[in-house]
Amino acid sequence: MSLRTELIACLLVTSLASTAIVGGLAYQRLTKKFNTLVMQESNNNFTNDVQQYFKVYGSWAEGQKQESFRAFTERRRATMRPDAGGVLRPQPGVEPGPVGPAGPPPGGGLQKPPPPGTGGNLNRPPFRFYLFDADYRSLFTLAPYRPGDPIHDEDRARMLPIQLDGKTIAYSSPQGEVSYSDLDLGYLAAMRESLVMGTALGLALTLLLGVFLGNRLSRPLRHLTGAVQAMGEGALRQQVPVESDNEVGVLAQAFNRMSGEIARQYEDLQKSHAQIEAMATQMRELSLRDALTGLHNRRHFDEQCAQLFASSQRYQRPFSVTLCDIDHFKRVNDQFSHATGDEVLRRIGEILKQSMRGSDLVARYGGEEFVVAFPETDLEHAKEACEALRQRVEAYPWHEVHPDLRVTISMGLCSDTQVASFHHMLEAADALLYQAKHGGRNQVCALAAGEPA
Ligand code: GH3
Ligand code: MG
Ligand code: MG
Repeated sequence: MSLRTELIACLLVTSLASTAIVGGLAYQRLTKKFNTLVMQESNNNFTNDVQQYFKVYGSWAEGQKQESFRAFTERRRATMRPDAGGVLRPQPGVEPGPVGPAGPPPGGGLQKPPPPGTGGNLNRPPFRFYLFDADYRSLFTLAPYRPGDPIHDEDRARMLPIQLDGKTIAYSSPQGEVSYSDLDLGYLAAMRESLVMGTALGLALTLLLGVFLGNRLSRPLRHLTGAVQAMGEGALRQQVPVESDNEVGVLAQAFNRMSGEIARQYEDLQKSHAQIEAMATQMRELSLRDALTGLHNRRHFDEQCAQLFASSQRYQRPFSVTLCDIDHFKRVNDQFSHATGDEVLRRIGEILKQSMRGSDLVARYGGEEFVVAFPETDLEHAKEACEALRQRVEAYPWHEVHPDLRVTISMGLCSDTQVASFHHMLEAADALLYQAKHGGRNQVCALAAGEPA
């Protein structure tokens, strides 16, 4: 769920809950207050009826002989209208009660509503009252009491005294739930309608506000989320708009700073990485090369030659190795100087580089010894290459180095791959080199496959 949806949902739930609580409480309190007012109004009217009954007939017993309380009440109320508080008042121009005795008493303690059309609360359904005399004996039939029954102790406390001329003439108390008149029900319905409408309007407003606030609050966060995702995908330099100076604005500023810093550091890191890579390559290359001649060194030769040898064996391909040694090199050093010796080594290196094919593996194997591996080359062709090399060295203008300098090389060549490893080929080549030296130097001695060394 997106932040915006969550925010709107939160606002709606909060609004709904608060409206339900406030509306429910208000409805409950108003209904309670309404009930109390209805009860008070009804009680006042009943108290007035009782007071008037006593006033007209002197006592309850006397009254009962003349006219039932209900008949008296009906007659009396016919002459009255309710005031703003619902209490019955005499109509203007009509003589208020007491009214004279009339009709046979119907009996009973039921307070019936007056006839319709006589007042605001006159449509209200009957309210039943307990009525006890001054000695707490029931005057009405109303369960659990019959006329003359003494009051139960638990009921005594809620009885309200009815006084006439400062003297308590009776005690009364309403019984049962309030029954609403049509008018009351109308008031309550209007109140409910207002609450429902208020709630609906409140919710609509919350929804609008939620969408507006949700958009407004989540937009900068959406920018931030998008930028963080882009960073995760590798685009480190991200900038989001700073739209406010609140917490989200501060977060956006901090993010922009961090993103810039991370991008800068990453670029620096990449530069250093590239430098280190270049240096490592250089170091690796240097570690594989001989410093004096620039040719590959023995370590590199051994590694590569092992692979070339294995490959030639696996695919049954021709392969040759030659070991070459400068003749009387000690004399060069002794006769001309060590520096001249070094120069000779460098130049032999140059001649080797120029003479050999790109696929051949050339290395300085140690001291004044060089080695060449010829992949895909049989004895005959390797021998040709060695002979050409020997002649080039011999024909080289060594006088450029020193007028009296002469340099030749001797070589031992092996093309026998039917051995355990290339080291055996090198040993054979060394033995042939020894032969070449003993044969008078400046020559190539070769051994074909199968020939004894
Ligand atoms: P041979 O014809 O029998 O090979 O005689 P040689 O004098 O070349 O034989 P030897 O192996 O006895 O001498 C090799 C000499 O090479 C000894 C050593 O001083 C010299 N040498 C080895 N490495 C270097 C180097 O890097 N620079 C110089 N100037 N001389 C070196
Ligand atoms: Mg040597
Ligand atoms: Mg030598």
